[in-house]
Amino acid sequence: MRAMVLNAPSEPLLERELDGPESTADEVLVRVEACGVCRTDLHVVDGELPDPKLPLVPGHQVVGRVVETGERVGIPWLGWTCGECRYCRSGRENLCVRALFNGYTRDGGYAELATVDRRYAFPLAAEPAAAQLAPLLCAGLIGYRALRFCGDAERLGLYGFGSSAHIVCQVARNQGRRVFALTSPGDSETQAFARELGAEWAGGSDERPPDELDAAIVFAPVGTLVPAALRATAPGGVVVCAGIHMSEIPAFPYEILWGERQVRSVANLTRRDGEELLPLAAEVPVRTTVTEYPLERANEALDDLRSGRITGAAVLAVTDGAHRRE
Ligand SMILES: [Zn+2]
Ligand SMILES: [Zn+2]
Repeated sequence: MRAMVLNAPSEPLLERELDGPESTADEVLVRVEACGVCRTDLHVVDGELPDPKLPLVPGHQVVGRVVETGERVGIPWLGWTCGECRYCRSGRENLCVRALFNGYTRDGGYAELATVDRRYAFPLAAEPAAAQLAPLLCAGLIGYRALRFCGDAERLGLYGFGSSAHIVCQVARNQGRRVFALTSPGDSETQAFARELGAEWAGGSDERPPDELDAAIVFAPVGTLVPAALRATAPGGVVVCAGIHMSEIPAFPYEILWGERQVRSVANLTRRDGEELLPLAAEVPVRTTVTEYPLERANEALDDLRSGRITGAAVLAVTDGAHRRE
């Protein structure tokens, strides 16, 4: 099979011809149709996350078909959990101490074939096209989990308006929330995109939204946004950090946390998140905006994501049919 392989952190991925992976009794072999490119992939490739499997096939937003049955499945970030630790036993498998993650500590979907533990694969409907669906598998799931932690917040701030926020914005509007989008200062193109998707206001992260926020989700991996979001958030509100990695959060005065404001992170996902989001996304319906790249141009997709050149989500269209509506 063709695959894009990380041999060492901070090196570009190499296009390789590999033997197809062998599936164990618990796993199924999947022919990959499309694989979303996530900011977490960038953190893995750039060596910002510890101890990846090496060499590694990245990718954890896979839409494909089970080779044996033809069933359509999604492969998310969570690849395996132990079922025995205190987190697994209390419905928090996202925090499992022995968890394995696809495209990080297991091989993922930047390849023509991938294996997945059948218990952690999500069944998917035949529609929409694979490239459209792929961003739901992480950007959607993590965003949805972050949105859940916002409770019944009516005024929602989204800091960083990329793959995840453009999905969350649509779900939040569907739930009747008011959305305020904060982008890199001066990024008027992304601000216009946010307004198109239902944000009532969009501006730079150096600005204060026109109304107080009940909750904010920080998607951008930029620590200075945490105190900025706290300052924009009303008493009792929450600031949810949705990324796996972030630059250092600067010191801030206690008064911006005072008033029962909270700061919390979101880590990984549980299978329940997928069971809730995937039908909800079909019902809304969430329409993703994607830029497609062929598999062999994965490095270009990562570079474009790193430099903020993507509107919506980047996706590797692995098979020719990935972009075709079936
Ligand atoms: Zn566990
Ligand atoms: Zn991800």
